[in-house]
Amino acid sequence: MKIHEHQARDLLSSAAIPVPPGMVIESIEDAAAAYKAVAEQGGTDLVVIKAQVHAGGRGKAGFVKLVRSAEEATEAARFMLTNRMVSPQTGPEGLKVNKLLVAAGVDIQHEYYLAITTDRASRRNVLIASAEGGVEIEQVAAKNPGAIIKQPIHPLLGLQPYEARDAAFRLGLKGKHANQTASIMLKLEKLFREKDCSLAEINPLVLTSPSTPSSTPDPRPQTPDPGHVVAIDAKFNFDDNALFRHKDIQNLFDPAEEDPAELKAHKFGLSYIALDGNIGCLVNGAGLAMSTMDIIKLHGGEPANFLDVGGSASEEAVTEAFKIILSDDAVKGIMVNIFGGIMDCAVIAQGIVNAAAQVGFEVPLVVRLEGTNVDAGRAILKEAAASLPTLQAATDLSDAAEKVTAAVGA
Ligand code: GDP
Ligand code: MN
Repeated sequence: MKIHEHQARDLLSSAAIPVPPGMVIESIEDAAAAYKAVAEQGGTDLVVIKAQVHAGGRGKAGFVKLVRSAEEATEAARFMLTNRMVSPQTGPEGLKVNKLLVAAGVDIQHEYYLAITTDRASRRNVLIASAEGGVEIEQVAAKNPGAIIKQPIHPLLGLQPYEARDAAFRLGLKGKHANQTASIMLKLEKLFREKDCSLAEINPLVLTSPSTPSSTPDPRPQTPDPGHVVAIDAKFNFDDNALFRHKDIQNLFDPAEEDPAELKAHKFGLSYIALDGNIGCLVNGAGLAMSTMDIIKLHGGEPANFLDVGGSASEEAVTEAFKIILSDDAVKGIMVNIFGGIMDCAVIAQGIVNAAAQVGFEVPLVVRLEGTNVDAGRAILKEAAASLPTLQAATDLSDAAEKVTAAVGA
């Protein structure tokens, strides 16, 4: 599960990681008042307006804007709430923006990257840090892998203070700034573990510019602020399998950010991911789904989706699965590929027949059934042949892929 940046900032704050103050707005009219409130709270006229969407690359897309007046804030809000955001992470159609974060801006001396994630190869969590923050870490990793610091984390002991300090020094930080950064690393790692994250990322973590003492006459000697370390962007992903023990995190779920078809599938316990092709796939088991997509591609076709009904789908869920596939106008043919192990072929067959009765589809349908109760499944399909004029039975995987690609003219 993903959350918004403003929610991630709240999590950081709750863990005592410094974050500039901010508030969320949903309309252009609220921008001016939000600007004034945040500028006052942050003691600065520099304010940043940021689109709240589940995708990165906002800065380059023009959806992170620095403003210095209520008028500029309103203009930035108007732009973001009336244009779709297109970034390398969104696809060409872009994303609609419903919420904006209005936050106190900071003067940046340097941007760092900091994250905790799981390294499957070493079977440990790992702290990743880089002095080349701000940009996407994948680019740094590709062009300058030496600029990335990795500190493996002991599974029982967690990140140790000396390891965090060492990482902070390797980022080139010194003295107070190194201590602040090490402290942030330790807090972030604790948060990662406590909330069962799969990713906890701060990018950028910034060292603010040194500020000169204010010009207001003050007889006492003034020490200039040498800058301090704060998080100005954060991203958290959570392990779905552990969500049941984090009611607070579940409550952060924003359905507006999810694909409606994927949401519906989730409700019925189905795993559905829309793809760009025109052959709808209904499969049981993720591995079989992968090989089904592969074999469709091998035969020159393009899958329209990944849909795994799992091992114990009900007739109702299979019916919904069919309706979800058919709701995609791009679908010109459907391939059902079931290997009944736990899944009963008769349940799948009945689901297909029900869906046909409820939505009545015309696209070619190629069915390959094998395994548990397969004879009953085939009998159900045969009996319903009149309501399934486009049905073709396939003998095996290759035969199914050949038939469905031929049917869509691939
Ligand atoms: P992302 O592009 O979606 O990752 O959005 P970020 O929040 O990371 O912002 C992108 C970039 O905008 C940062 O790397 C900064 O360079 C800049 N930026 C964001 N907030 C501020 C701020 O308060 N002050 C300044 N000077 N720059 C900022
Ligand atoms: Mn960022």
